[in-house]
Amino acid sequence: ASGYSLLRDPHHNKGLAFTEKERDAHYLRGLLPPVVVNHDLQVKKMMNNIRQYEVPLQRYQAMMDLQERNERLFYKLLIENIEELLPIVYTPTVGEACQKYGTIFKNPQGLYISLKDKGKVLEILKNWPQKKIQVIVVTDGERILGLGDLGCQGMGIPVGKLSLYTALGGIRPSACLPITIDVGTNNEKMLNDEFYIGLRQRRACGKEYAELMDEFMSAVKQNYGEKVLIQFEDFANHNAFDLLEKYRTTHLVFNDDIQGTASVVLAGLISALKLVGGSLADHKFLFLGAGEAGTGIAELIALEISKQTDAPLEETRKKIWLVDSKGLIVRSRLESLQHFKKPWAHDHEPVKDFLDAVKTIKPTVLIGSSGAGQTFTKEVVEAMSSFNETPIILALSNPTSQSECTAEQAYTWSEGRTIFASGSPFAPVEYNGKVYVSGQSNNAYIFPGFGLGLIISGAIRVHDEMLLAASEALAEQVTQEHFDNGLIYPPFTNIRKISAHIAARVAAKAYELGLASRLPQPENLVAYAESCMYSPKYRNYR
Ligand code: NAP
Ligand code: MN
Repeated sequence: ASGYSLLRDPHHNKGLAFTEKERDAHYLRGLLPPVVVNHDLQVKKMMNNIRQYEVPLQRYQAMMDLQERNERLFYKLLIENIEELLPIVYTPTVGEACQKYGTIFKNPQGLYISLKDKGKVLEILKNWPQKKIQVIVVTDGERILGLGDLGCQGMGIPVGKLSLYTALGGIRPSACLPITIDVGTNNEKMLNDEFYIGLRQRRACGKEYAELMDEFMSAVKQNYGEKVLIQFEDFANHNAFDLLEKYRTTHLVFNDDIQGTASVVLAGLISALKLVGGSLADHKFLFLGAGEAGTGIAELIALEISKQTDAPLEETRKKIWLVDSKGLIVRSRLESLQHFKKPWAHDHEPVKDFLDAVKTIKPTVLIGSSGAGQTFTKEVVEAMSSFNETPIILALSNPTSQSECTAEQAYTWSEGRTIFASGSPFAPVEYNGKVYVSGQSNNAYIFPGFGLGLIISGAIRVHDEMLLAASEALAEQVTQEHFDNGLIYPPFTNIRKISAHIAARVAAKAYELGLASRLPQPENLVAYAESCMYSPKYRNYR
């Protein structure tokens, strides 16, 4: 290969870090200025560069450009500056990037499979240059964060999620494949935008949708085998639950919005209990939002309480209440409820207004999962603080604009008493002379380690017990020092170590359940997980 093309291959490019010997051996002389710098100096220079941009979207673009230019530098930067760069490559900035994806995108990323490609999905997979794929993140763009239907422009989400798979979970970048399934969009703005990059038609549904998805799922298995992980991301709930149900027995599938979110929230609750005392069964939970995130979390909490108390699920579910756009979910609404809400229709008179629901149910834990911002009002937080000494409040909706309340509001309105975490990050808050640091309750803590655990064990199916194992593993990573700061999640700084622990526990569960195919089982799973993790260190080319 010529030196010129080496510089343009992001998988191999080292930029100014090519050594004198490499420059001689690979026809690079003269194509680079004379200086040779090391990887660390490149990171320092790039961070200086990125920090010069004031606008988050510009930082996002600088990161995407870097990923396309020098992959190992991109990952070293991300890993070493994770707290600073996570809000750029992930929520909240990735949301804005998706909204503007059609105009900011230069080189296409990932694979696009549209209705036009029916009958040719396998061919498309074969067009992708990498053959050994371990993780696919796929979206159809219908529910991107709390921003709604962004159609084909949802591609930013699988791309972002997979960069976290690599940076946080150590999956090789070449083993990651982002995919967007384009069946149209119902977003009028996109349909009327002359620069829109997707199919200009309303969303296909029913049989047409199911057939394309089925062809996709079969093609993936045919092309990559039994052990490729398919992560469903940001599908609308009317498809998400059905897809998960349909493919969980035939493929290695994981829905991050339902299952990953459930696992991360359960972890946060397990660790919050160390601050407020009692067991899960002593608490009462109220959700605003009864979709993928809400019912997914609710079910995992009920499952965990059942395991701890030996009570049947039908009983433990009664501690958990959900509110949707029509009010509290109660028995009298049963007939008209979507199937995933039915288990939560308890005996109670109808309550339309959310504040009224808070006041009647009097939960100890309040969880926002509706995608609607500013719904935890002053009155709501004050009510929570009136019947709880230490209310637990999780505002999960993303991006920041959709957060149920801000960290500042939560601490101010609860007079500094709440344990608060949010889906998108908030800066520390000062209230009455004390600094409050809130945690980020985001599935980014779970899915990278979870996926790594599936891969290192050669798991062929995902089981709910693995989600519980992941929750426990994450909760164990919260130390006394974190608790002293009011944190219920560890900081992201140590996430690779945390991911290795999660991976080990998930893998152990896969072996225990007979779902692992990598035999024999490694003796020390944590060490094994760590040894499998991709590192962005430069290679020496001879
Ligand atoms: P979803 O399946 O569409 O569910 C949304 C639910 O919220 C539905 O039950 C809907 O009611 C209800 N809802 C919407 N607006 C409402 C309002 N103004 N008042 C009351 N209820 C309302 O969405 P999802 O997948 O669960 O995601 C929801 C949000 O959670 C999104 O913002 C997403 O970004 C966030 N999320 C965060 C994480 C994390 O890790 N932090 C993970 C996943 C999702 P109806 O059913 O009546 O329409
Ligand atoms: Mn998601």
